[in-house]
Amino acid sequence: MSCTGRFAPSPTGPLHFGSLLAALASYLDIRAQGGTWLVRIEDLDPPREVPGASDLILKTLDRFGLHWDAEVVYQSQRHALYHSALEQLLRDGLAYHCQCSRKQLTQRHAQQSYDGYCRSHPPSSDATTSVRAIYPDTALSFDDRIQGERVYPADPGRGDFVIFRRDGFFAYQLAVIIDDQEQGIDQVVRGADLIDETPRQMVLQQHLGYRQPSYAHIPVLTNAEGQKLSKQTFAKPLSLDSDEIRRQLLRALNLLGHPVPDELQTGSHAEILAWAVQHWSMAQVPRGLTLAPEAG
Ligand SMILES: [Zn+2]
Repeated sequence: MSCTGRFAPSPTGPLHFGSLLAALASYLDIRAQGGTWLVRIEDLDPPREVPGASDLILKTLDRFGLHWDAEVVYQSQRHALYHSALEQLLRDGLAYHCQCSRKQLTQRHAQQSYDGYCRSHPPSSDATTSVRAIYPDTALSFDDRIQGERVYPADPGRGDFVIFRRDGFFAYQLAVIIDDQEQGIDQVVRGADLIDETPRQMVLQQHLGYRQPSYAHIPVLTNAEGQKLSKQTFAKPLSLDSDEIRRQLLRALNLLGHPVPDELQTGSHAEILAWAVQHWSMAQVPRGLTLAPEAG
């Protein structure tokens, strides 16, 4: 049975070592099964984007030998698709307009989990609003291929969540599940920093009648201070020097539980990748939501 996976970076800066782990795990898992691997650029939030970052990300993947199978998809070009799903959710009563300002939410102590105010007090049609999807009052669970069964108990305080922002942008949660459905993604491999977003995405998949992909959340690499590697924590961009590419690949494979045999340590990055595809096993990826750098 053929499978399809993806790597979906946001163009907020160059790829760093933490993003390499996610890209590599997804790539190897799909290639080991002979499936299709896609790249999607999640450029939904123009104010956070860095000019030229998309091209640099693609160039970096290419230099590492992580070649994708079809044309790259850009979320910024798919607003019509997101819009029609949004309309469907509103029509079906599974989402509603909300005009609560940040200040009002703070006053009602509803910033973290929304209190459903606008469900019973619909805003007037000329108001500037966000759109919230209804989060059901039932427990949700899924079986993560790395982290095992994840259970999210029924929590009325969890709250209906924003899928379209007041400033006119679609929320990540909505776009990501529409794209996964449209691109035929059936195996999601990504960083564990996104694991607790999964229930909301499952809710949207159910609301829209989509099938649910399988999920594998790899532990997120932290720096020595225990913070997730990111642009905010000043993670260094990946080096594109060919010796460095090899070194970074070896270190990434080691952290993902696939230490490369001694005789291959000096091989080309293509040889190392070929070995990794052949020996890939999700069961070897360390369980846990974070990974300390010392492990490498
Ligand atoms: Zn509201």
